[in-house]
Amino acid sequence: MTSVQELIRTAASAEKTIGGISPGSITLEGRKPIALKSTGTCDVDLTVAPWEVDEKPGYGPGANTQDEIPQTAPRQGPLPERYRNATDEELDRWIRDAKATLGDRVSILGHFYQRDEIVQYADFIGDSFMLAQAAKDRPEAESFVFCGVHFMAETCDVLSTPEQSVILPNLAAGCSMADMATIDQVEACWEALMGTLGETAADGRQSVIPVTYMNSSAAIKAFCGRNGGIVCTSSNAHTVLEWAFERGQRVVFFPDQHLGRNTAKAMGITEDEMPLWRPHLPLGGNTAKQLSDAKVILWNGFCSVHKRFTVAQIDKARAEYPGVRVIVHPECPAPVVEAADGSGSTDYIRKQIEAAAPGTIFAVGTEINLVNRLQQQHPDLTIFCLDPVICPCSTMYRIHPAYLAWTLEALVRGETPNQIRVDESVAHDSRVALERMLAARP
Ligand code: SF4
Repeated sequence: MTSVQELIRTAASAEKTIGGISPGSITLEGRKPIALKSTGTCDVDLTVAPWEVDEKPGYGPGANTQDEIPQTAPRQGPLPERYRNATDEELDRWIRDAKATLGDRVSILGHFYQRDEIVQYADFIGDSFMLAQAAKDRPEAESFVFCGVHFMAETCDVLSTPEQSVILPNLAAGCSMADMATIDQVEACWEALMGTLGETAADGRQSVIPVTYMNSSAAIKAFCGRNGGIVCTSSNAHTVLEWAFERGQRVVFFPDQHLGRNTAKAMGITEDEMPLWRPHLPLGGNTAKQLSDAKVILWNGFCSVHKRFTVAQIDKARAEYPGVRVIVHPECPAPVVEAADGSGSTDYIRKQIEAAAPGTIFAVGTEINLVNRLQQQHPDLTIFCLDPVICPCSTMYRIHPAYLAWTLEALVRGETPNQIRVDESVAHDSRVALERMLAARP
């Protein structure tokens, strides 16, 4: 199996040869993903081991490298030399042996965007909510080793029992989008909105309903739970906004402006009715009238992985592959979603591909590890990433087999490293917002 890491190594050595990063051209030989033909990576440091960048500030190499990391973001301590110096074969043996010893007591959960070197050990693979739900379905597990990012591990802790522990193998695996909205910023925003708009509209509804994307901290989910709000995923954002408009005059949507905008636009809400809230500016950079006229106030957050996709990439794919079907994630900017043939969650993308007739060509706008894996699982289709530069999510990339081996061997010794714990009062209010989402499902 060709992993993204092998592609990165190949592309990085090609870069050294050709002396620079090149987006490459969209060409296919046989039915290989376009990433296989790439001569470039977005960051040459992708070839270094994660522990070489873990203790430094920043998100590390990959799509999120330019994002500003909060000073409070968790850092990972040093990884013991035994793991740093191990060969791939040793790590594989240690992981398999520890897994066999731990049996059903420990469940490894792997996100769709995780590298293949990790996914191969996962007991369950899914998107963030599917993984948290999977934890609920495994009462026999004492621990979940969560191979995703920090907010997902928090949600898993919120939905699992108090006796179960959730472990993030590398604490530096955060999410730059989730980090773009801190609880202090959200509370300051709410205070300003309440001061400007009041708590209740003339018709008796709330003046504003807070809605947060699953990709946010437990503290923000709890904030929504406490204030009549709700959580959404990329699969159910439309249903959740309908739920919110039944109860409120407008919505403030955290933290992904693109999912909020794409969903609201599909519901007929205009750009003028969607002001952007910039947390460092008074009233988020808006006038009181703009806020009063708003239907959806969008937090100024984004995913740096999905922000990379462009309409020019779609035009190029269509020109070179007539009949290509373009599907993208709704975290992509609105012009990209509008130029695509379809948009939806990772689960939607997976299902579209599973249902396709042999020979169908797909250009996909989502994380490279998932796109590459889908091509490997469907050799009768041609599936390529819209972005020919290999650029994985920097934080997912931080979960390396060396950390997994370290975590599992610690569990065998009876230790619980890197446990993610959500304070019970925060967990309680988060569950309120999550349960509203489940009840709002069509
Ligand atoms: S892909 Fe984007 S939203 Fe998902 S974990 Fe990475 S930065 Fe966060």
